[in-house]
Amino acid sequence: MTHGHESSTAVIAERLPSEPTGTEFPSAHWRAKSGISVRFWGVRGSLACPQPELARYGGNTSCVEMRCGDRLLVFDAGTGLRALGALVEAGGPTDADIFFSHFHIDHVYGLPFFAPIYEPATRLRLWGGNLLPARRIEQAIGQMMSEPLFPIGLDAFKAGIEFHDFHAGDVLKPHPGVVLRTAPLNHPGGATGYRLEYAGSSVAYITDTEHCPGSLDRNVLELARGVDLMIYDCNYTEQEYAAHRDWGHSTWQQGVRLANAADAKLLALFHHDPAHDDAMLDRIGSEAKSQRAATVVAAEGMRLRF
Ligand SMILES: [Zn+2]
Ligand SMILES: [Zn+2]
Repeated sequence: MTHGHESSTAVIAERLPSEPTGTEFPSAHWRAKSGISVRFWGVRGSLACPQPELARYGGNTSCVEMRCGDRLLVFDAGTGLRALGALVEAGGPTDADIFFSHFHIDHVYGLPFFAPIYEPATRLRLWGGNLLPARRIEQAIGQMMSEPLFPIGLDAFKAGIEFHDFHAGDVLKPHPGVVLRTAPLNHPGGATGYRLEYAGSSVAYITDTEHCPGSLDRNVLELARGVDLMIYDCNYTEQEYAAHRDWGHSTWQQGVRLANAADAKLLALFHHDPAHDDAMLDRIGSEAKSQRAATVVAAEGMRLRF
């Protein structure tokens, strides 16, 4: 099944001056509607990678900004969060929700480098769905920010911070008109997938999840059903996956199968392996697009609007 230009998907893709030139954006056949805008600040899995041969897609770890009207929603606080912090700090007092897929360090390490968190006027709500009942968000972040691993503790944050631990599967309604459906993912220690719905648009953020070869994860299908954008853990190729069973990650080929089955309008390959340089991601992108035209390889700086 090929999803391509016949799709009625509404998306405008924009390219910043600094954005990668090798990344293709769908454009001609896509029509706009106001809803959710998405910007990728970190697309890398596991470890930040500053090497020049990875620079075009970007080396920062998971962080995706989504705007619903004037609401700022951030998915994961990987190292990409630092640059987002500089941008929002320049725009006056920050009010944001940060939704964590889980608390592995590549998804959390940007938090102490998010400048607005040191401003008393900042209001943050941190959401996580994989820790209860044994742990709490506050405890997990406090553990990362403790001697001898980190020089300052949570008490250094001056922002007003609310911690919202929930159970993956809950439906979150943080603001009028903003709905997040959630589901548990298959990852060591657990992870949470999100489906954001706002003003008739929808985006699924599904990372750090391993598939069961030969079957389609029902939780993932439900989150991604008919969405405008499905962001999915495509850490491995199918060939690499054979040597990485039980590591908690999926493949771009499985992403294509899931996106097709869920009838997602656009698929974004995400959580790139640190071993995948720009040339390899170019190859993966063109192979994936030959199977499913409505596919993009997520890159730092990429912006999409639905
Ligand atoms: Zn990760
Ligand atoms: Zn993880």
